[in-house]
Amino acid sequence: MTETPTAATGSDRAGVARVTGAPERVAELSASLAALNDRIHAACRAADRDPGTVRLLPVTKFFPASDIEILYGLGRREFGESREQEASAKVAQLGHLSQIRWEFIGRLQRNKAKHVARWADTVYSVDSDRLATTLDTAAEAALEAGERHTPLRVLLQVSLDGDTARGGVTAADLPALADHVAGSASLQLGGLMAIPPLESDPEAAFAQLQSIHSYLLAAHPEAAELSAGMSGDLEAAIRHGSTCVRVGTALMGARPITSE
Ligand SMILES: *Cc1c(COP(=O)(O)O)cnc(C)c1O
Repeated sequence: MTETPTAATGSDRAGVARVTGAPERVAELSASLAALNDRIHAACRAADRDPGTVRLLPVTKFFPASDIEILYGLGRREFGESREQEASAKVAQLGHLSQIRWEFIGRLQRNKAKHVARWADTVYSVDSDRLATTLDTAAEAALEAGERHTPLRVLLQVSLDGDTARGGVTAADLPALADHVAGSASLQLGGLMAIPPLESDPEAAFAQLQSIHSYLLAAHPEAAELSAGMSGDLEAAIRHGSTCVRVGTALMGARPITSE
């Protein structure tokens, strides 16, 4: 990053007294974070749910480390990234933020698992036994090397239309994969994640996901997380039991157009 952030003093709704960053960007992110929290609260009220049961995961891919630093100053501690190289670089840059936690939400190639297992608290996109085994080995090595201190938390990504080319395990193959992850010494089964299929009705997709989650919970009560909902569909996801919305655009602004 070439830009040197200038100090700005502000106060956000969480009462954080001092936030470092370019003043215009601090004001922008502070306003969009407040608006997003209002939106999540309204969705929870409409769904008759306690807002404390829905976590916001800011998705910061394509945005600079300086933005993450601003959001940290505004009280956020967890950040979602989806591209390994970009994320590893930010992790290195932001090592001074002692309470930061990184969550890897993108598709993960097995040859990148070793890197991600060093710094990720959670990987959201496990969809095969092979990837689970690779991550377990990588997490074990990171634990032994003292690079991490807790098992790697894993969410299983579900394919709601059975088109596994886009990532995700089918509902039929999910129980065996869940058993595999639950039995892996250096992994911890945390729950499910899904992205509605292109052109699908998110309402129907999230209803289907919620029912798949209820079956999983019967076998694995610890798998409580249901990560569903993004900028465009978080209300529908919250109506159907989401415990974690992953929001990029509505918080950070538009990303460059890519295939992701
Ligand atoms: C980029 C991304 C998001 C955020 O999407 P927005 O529509 O920008 O909120 C959520 N989940 C995953 C897996 C992503 O890759």
